Amino acid sequence: MSILLGAIADDFTGATDLANTLVKEGMRAVQVIGVPDADLDFGDANAVIVALKSRTEPPAEAIEDSLAALAWLKARGTRQFFFKYCSTFDSTDAGNIGPVAEALMEALDTDFTIACPAFPANGRTLFNGHLFVGDVLLSDSGMKNHPLTPMTDANLVRVLARQTKKPVGLVPYAAVDGGAESIRSAYSNLKAGGFAHAIVDAISDPHLRFIGEASADLKLITGGSGVALGLPENFRKQGLLQASATTDFHAPPGRTAIIAGSCSQATRGQIAHAQKHIASFLIDPMELAAGQDKVAEALAWARAQNAELPILIYSSADPELVKQVQEKLGREKAGAMVEDALARVALGLYEQGVRRLVVAGGETSGAVVNALQVPALRIGPEIDPGVPWTETMGPKKLALALKSGNFGTQDFFLKSFAMLS
Ligand code: ADP
Repeated sequence: MSILLGAIADDFTGATDLANTLVKEGMRAVQVIGVPDADLDFGDANAVIVALKSRTEPPAEAIEDSLAALAWLKARGTRQFFFKYCSTFDSTDAGNIGPVAEALMEALDTDFTIACPAFPANGRTLFNGHLFVGDVLLSDSGMKNHPLTPMTDANLVRVLARQTKKPVGLVPYAAVDGGAESIRSAYSNLKAGGFAHAIVDAISDPHLRFIGEASADLKLITGGSGVALGLPENFRKQGLLQASATTDFHAPPGRTAIIAGSCSQATRGQIAHAQKHIASFLIDPMELAAGQDKVAEALAWARAQNAELPILIYSSADPELVKQVQEKLGREKAGAMVEDALARVALGLYEQGVRRLVVAGGETSGAVVNALQVPALRIGPEIDPGVPWTETMGPKKLALALKSGNFGTQDFFLKSFAMLS
């Protein structure tokens, strides 16, 4: 089976977000972690999303990783390519959106692509080339203070032009609102005018579907997960994708557990809620730092619990406690130490027969997936917006829900397991 849509995502949770959108629109999606091995089996997926960590790498490394992912996708007969980045266009004047897009264009031998980070459902809209976050310009939003990719200019034509060698044009709101035909003719005009990139406006989901339709023949599309909304329909029209969505998801039977390393408000609320119903064990970073073997303690505790019920192992603490730990150990050291402990807990729980695991926290999820040596995830049904159940594809088979800290309703943990048969 060949891949209809092959995507390269510049971070892990962004890849999941895109995969989740494609599954909701009727595709079978697999998320691959890092540049895939030559022999990786992606099963019957028709969308494959390679999750890189290239957003804040030096541009040369981001290009190298992206081209390696592209070569893997090309070798598997991929029809259309997608470069996924954040809906707030996270980048610097050095890159990496522009340089990666141009490297991919060259490798695909194409002279025109679009850039559309709009995600109206999440308040990211693009009007006359200007990106809004909620009701403020990107440059007035919290993104202006981002530690790695501060966004101080909301005019994306200007922002992208600073990162690219070739000229950047605009498909403005008026053209997008006119529908797919009008967008296609805007593309032709820009191409004829020598533009290689087009920022494309969108303030609503119907706009994104128009853009999807108009982009059926583009070899490469770049943007947020929103602009992927209309792409599966193109494959359906071409008879390459079945009319109805098929969710073919099987959670292996086994024990259920939650590992939480996120200290976000949402996750702390979810922990408090779950603690009313199930047993929990705290991994305290201060005790870890003092040399106590909290991982062994947690695993011994887990073994003694009722195997019929979910268990919760967490390090999450409120901001005051986190601050104290960080002051004592340093922010990075504290984070890495806790991530390492939770990752070893995940491996130990797997060995105890846990086959259904929810992980809270982006970095924590990355550490757990590494420890379990998961090469790829098949995307299943959505639990809450942006968080699907997934099935691991490596030798260790388990159902994983990887939740970015702030996502999910208060009853997320128990609700996740209730969805599984
Ligand atoms: P989120 O998705 O909410 O950002 P992450 O897992 O990405 O969650 O980040 C949380 C970070 O905080 C991780 O590096 C984790 O190891 C660290 N951490 C977890 N618990 C504590 C704690 N009690 N004190 C200090 N740092 C912690």
